[in-house]
Amino acid sequence: MIAHRILLAAALLALPGVAQAQFPNIGGLVKGVQNVKKLGDSLRKIPEPEEIKLGGDLASIILGAAPLVQDAEKQRYVNRVGRWLALHSDRPDLPWQFGVVETDDVNAFSMPGGYVLISRGMFDQMRNEAELAGVLAHEIAHVAKKDHLGALQGSLRNAALGDFTEYVGGSGGIGGAFKSALINAGKDMFARGLNHDDEYDADRMGVVIAARSGYSPYGLVGVLQTLSAAPEEKGYALMNKTHPLPVDRIERLDRAMGTKFDTVTAVVEDLPSFVALRAAPAPAAAKSTPARAPARARSRRRN
Ligand SMILES: [Zn+2]
Repeated sequence: MIAHRILLAAALLALPGVAQAQFPNIGGLVKGVQNVKKLGDSLRKIPEPEEIKLGGDLASIILGAAPLVQDAEKQRYVNRVGRWLALHSDRPDLPWQFGVVETDDVNAFSMPGGYVLISRGMFDQMRNEAELAGVLAHEIAHVAKKDHLGALQGSLRNAALGDFTEYVGGSGGIGGAFKSALINAGKDMFARGLNHDDEYDADRMGVVIAARSGYSPYGLVGVLQTLSAAPEEKGYALMNKTHPLPVDRIERLDRAMGTKFDTVTAVVEDLPSFVALRAAPAPAAAKSTPARAPARARSRRRN
């Protein structure tokens, strides 16, 4: 892992060089051209089609390392839950796509433009559908808030706007200075995670999205309880490195939620279809803990 991080750091340091390669420094001649327009703060404001393209390329980075689980029913189910939740977000019109990727690591990722991936390791930890909804809604919140664009902005600040324009307007083929800068920035973002305030905000917004969608608002808290119960678990390492500690997230959520949801009654905790999906073949499901409902959650079906 240390070697991995050093490589990423080296890639990051190389970024200004990537942009500068367009304008080789030949003595003092380069001074005038160094004023080339940089990305500045423009990434958060890019048009939606360009945001979607960028997210698709980042998704392909993850899918290159961890392919989708070969289980059409599982993928369909996660898409159905995810799209239902996304309809209750601030950006219902994005072309939302959800997927379960094949890795033991317990994690979930999202990308600009509406791409959300959850690891099989994480999926296997889900004790009910409200927990799945809680995790997906947290990721949907990141996309709605454009958190990744903000994070990428830092790494890409030195990339030239001309390269970016070419990247989004070009043929879409691999290559180009901006594309390599973007891939490096994306790898860096997935290794480091987003900033902690963005995570806390996504927790709160995710709870609201889940509740609006008819799910128990305590699904995410349930997942965080699972994560906090075994902090040394190997599969949690990346999650713990890229997120605030689960206990801190639970404490903040608890404070924010207070008693606001105590009167919410008609909520989904679990559905027979999800129980059946989880029970399907997955041998790993055998080691899951018995269902443990969050204290205040109700157990009702959606009408
Ligand atoms: Zn997050």
